[in-house]
Amino acid sequence: MKLYVNEIIDNSKVEGPGNRTCIFVQGCLKHCYKCNSPQTWDLDSGNEYDVKQLAEDILSNPDIEGVTFSGGEPLLQSRALYQLAKMLKDKLSIVIFTGYEYNLIKSVNCADWNNLLNLCDILVSGKFIYEKRCTDRLWVGSSNQEIIFLSDIYKDFDLNNKKNKIEIRLNKDGKIIVNGMADNDKILELFNDSNLI
Ligand code: SF4
Repeated sequence: MKLYVNEIIDNSKVEGPGNRTCIFVQGCLKHCYKCNSPQTWDLDSGNEYDVKQLAEDILSNPDIEGVTFSGGEPLLQSRALYQLAKMLKDKLSIVIFTGYEYNLIKSVNCADWNNLLNLCDILVSGKFIYEKRCTDRLWVGSSNQEIIFLSDIYKDFDLNNKKNKIEIRLNKDGKIIVNGMADNDKILELFNDSNLI
């Protein structure tokens, strides 16, 4: 099975608890105003990954405690991510970001979405709303977004008293990659460059 990916970041410490591999999938229909990753919207691009090979690559990193599915919109590729999650679940925790609200996800009751979420430990849900932008809470960019613990493995994780951070990388092609959570205008001001992840 294939997964379409915009970017993979290894050893990130800002996309969920601990050290994580982050998979930013390709494709999103939400098109939130001032989304900080519009390059992930196009449904017809992205790099094609074989899910089994990707799982092996992720598991070859002994330093991570989990994987994070972000985007783009992970639920648009829920079937492939479910297959991937099944191969990782015994060894890694799973965090998923989605632009869909948790109440909507529950009411839609889509089997593919449910299968995937049943393997996830933390769900960060809700679209980014610029008028409600607020980066005070860990991992979220606007006050409407929710953090939901779907399993109890992080039940003692304290969301309070932690600050959002960003990470900046220069990849082998010379592209600057920024991930994590910060005010988008401030990031753009910092770099004065629109070629950011
Ligand atoms: S849901 Fe996420 S990736 Fe999609 S447009 Fe909104 S902020 Fe961007």
